[in-house]
Amino acid sequence: MQAESYDALRKELESKKAELTVRLERITENLRRGYHPDSKERAKELEDSEVVDALGNEARAELWNISAALQRMEAGEYGICVECGTDIDRGRINAHPYAKQCIDCARLAEAREARYS
Ligand SMILES: [Zn+2]
Repeated sequence: MQAESYDALRKELESKKAELTVRLERITENLRRGYHPDSKERAKELEDSEVVDALGNEARAELWNISAALQRMEAGEYGICVECGTDIDRGRINAHPYAKQCIDCARLAEAREARYS
């Protein structure tokens, strides 16, 4: 029953995935472009490339999250907490489409991380 209601979300994630893939390709292309021989210019370009690289990492991380979410949808595991197996609150899914845990488990995990870090 719940699996059907994720159709719209799945389409959304799929188009976002396509968009990110294109963006990532563009970023990679920019990075591959040769650096300017003038050292001053080169310093600036290196600086830019670091920003571009950070953007790339962000896009890669999001792409990974989207793929994982789509895989869970495929397996019929999407929207189910990986920790306790209960349905994740729909409001939480809408706010955090990549959430793998219900709010209770997420809070517990956060508390654990806070204690050990
Ligand atoms: Zn849970």
